[in-house]
Parts: sequence; structure tokens; C-alpha cells
Amino acid sequence: MRTSPAGRAAGFSLLLFAGLLVLCGCRTTAGDRSEPGHQAWLNGWKATNSVWRGLHIMLHADSGARELEQEFPRLKAAGINTIIVEVNYCFEFRSHPELRSASFVTAATAHAMARSAREQGIRLIPQFNCIGHQSWAQSTLPLLVKYPQLDETPGQYPENKGIYCRSWCTRNPEVNKVVLPLLDELVEAFEADALHLGMDEIFLIGSPHCERCKGRDPGQLLADAINGLHDHFSTGRRVELLLWGDRLLDAAALGYSEWEAAKNGTHTALERIPKDIIICDWHYAKQEEYRSVPMLARKGFRVWPSGWQPLDGAVALSKYSREQRRTEPLVMGYLCTTWGKVKTRETADWPCLVEPLRVWSTPR
Ligand SMILES: [Zn+2]
Repeated sequence: MRTSPAGRAAGFSLLLFAGLLVLCGCRTTAGDRSEPGHQAWLNGWKATNSVWRGLHIMLHADSGARELEQEFPRLKAAGINTIIVEVNYCFEFRSHPELRSASFVTAATAHAMARSAREQGIRLIPQFNCIGHQSWAQSTLPLLVKYPQLDETPGQYPENKGIYCRSWCTRNPEVNKVVLPLLDELVEAFEADALHLGMDEIFLIGSPHCERCKGRDPGQLLADAINGLHDHFSTGRRVELLLWGDRLLDAAALGYSEWEAAKNGTHTALERIPKDIIICDWHYAKQEEYRSVPMLARKGFRVWPSGWQPLDGAVALSKYSREQRRTEPLVMGYLCTTWGKVKTRETADWPCLVEPLRVWSTPR
């Protein structure tokens, strides 16, 4: 934990407080977040950033993290005030070193990035995909390699043939015993006050191959999993949570595809989760309207419209969302996802970032 000059006077009382937490058996993984200086920074950030202009980018190693850090000033100049770094298993996990990917971001680099981001006025938010995306093509990610008993479809689909991505079982109580320490480490290392939990494109949930889940309502299974994570991060930690929105949207009612909305029954979770969760509502194709944006806001959720490419789709989503904000203040701004389509050094000039953000240069 770093100590800012302003924080030194309060250092002793903080030390006592931390000691009491340990004595009480409470865990604190807040890192810098718990310092008065960080809270003041966050309050200042919120006061000056009523619109969230975001970038989502994947990090696999220290080299990529340092490259991104060098771009912070240019990204700031392009209007970015929030960066989501999707890390998943590419981190130097100490609670479960067996779950580190072959290449990873070290905790020291994460702390350095966090400091640089704050200096630039950028809010840095780590991401770890929960439930779904536990494999990609033939590669299964570390959790289900090391703990195959946590798989929603254990022993099924050899070499991942016939499925999109593996999922972990939402009802196995052993999952959170492994995963929560990983998430806590990311929050601590990135000195984060928010965490993106992923949860997009979950197709394997309530599988007939899972003894715990078969026959159960997918919407309730998803809601229970989200609420369990929310309980962990809202109790004492005060970490804001973000999710991709697709599993919370009814594809049939909204006219979306099975990718950007759910046809597998998970959408009823929307009525069963806390309203303080930020929903990243992603759509890529150009459409006349994006009905989920005002729908989510009217239900009381903060909505962060998230685009990618093609450029006309990204601009259409951003402009539509900007119009919605006139009457729906819970529409937060615009999040530019990259998905490897632009080099880090060229991101600040990428048309799919620059053009959609143009309409968000003023809050109203
Ligand atoms: Zn299950």
C-alpha cells in the first residue's frame, strides 16, 4: 500500500483500523482504494466526469500493459476517461498460481498502471470473464483445466467441439472459493474501485449435463450467480460492478440476434439483480434503433452503450445513445471495444474510437 503525504497523518489510525479488521476476522483487499487520498481522487473524478468515455482493451503480458500505459496521455487527449483492461487469467495470481496463463501481467506493473492512470485522470477498471468464455476454440482456460469438476458440462464436448465456449457451473459452491480470491487480487493490484465481470455470450447454463443445474431456470441461475458476486463486492468493499448486457436482454422482444441478446432464457435475471450494477450494452451492426438502451435506463440501470466496428455501426449506436440521454440520464456515455482490431499505439487515432466519441464531448 502506498502512502501519500496527505495520508500520513491518518496513517496510524488506518493501521489500527486494519489491525482491528484482521482481529475481527474480516478481510480487506482494498489496497489504495481504502486510503482517503484515493477516495478524494474518485470523488473528484466523478464530479468532473458525468459522461463515461471508455476504452476496452485486452492485456496478456507486462509488455502490452506498459505499451498501453505509454498511450494514456494520447488517449486522455482523445477524450478517454475510463479504461477497462480485460485480464482474465493473464495475471500474476498469488492465491492460485496454478491458474496463471503462460504469459501474464505482474502485480507490480498493475500498480504502476494504476498510478499512471490516476495521474492522467483516467479510471482504470480490470475485467475477468465470469461464468462463460472459459474456453476459446480448442483451448480450455486454466480454471477448467485445473478444476474440471467445476465445468457446467464435465466430460462433455471433447476438444470443445460442438460448443462456443465452456462455462463454469453457477451452482457449484466450490467455484467462488477459487474465483473470489482471483477477483480480489485484481481489484487490489489495479487499485480499482470498479470491476468488470464479463458474463457475455453464456450459452451453457442450466445444462442437462450438470447434475446441480439441469431443469433449473437459466434466468434464476444467472441472477443467483450475479447476486453472489454482488454480495461479495458490495459488503465492505464498495466495488462497483459492470457486466456485458447481452444475457440480460430478451432477443425476441427486442429484435436482436442470439449474440447481442439472449434466446436461452437468461434474460429474466434482469428483474432479479441490484440496480447499482452497470450494464455494458454492446451492439456492433448499424441499426435504426437500439431499444435496449432506453429500456435498461427506464428500469433504473446505468447503461453504458458499447460499440466496436464497423464504423457506421459504432457511430449509429453512439448517436442513438446520445439522443436517449436527453431524457434518460442513466445512459452513461460510450465504450469503445477494440478486440485486437487496432494496435495499441494507434488506438487514440482509430476512427472507431474518435468518431463515436465526438458526440459525447459535452455532457448534455
Ligand atoms: Zn451447474
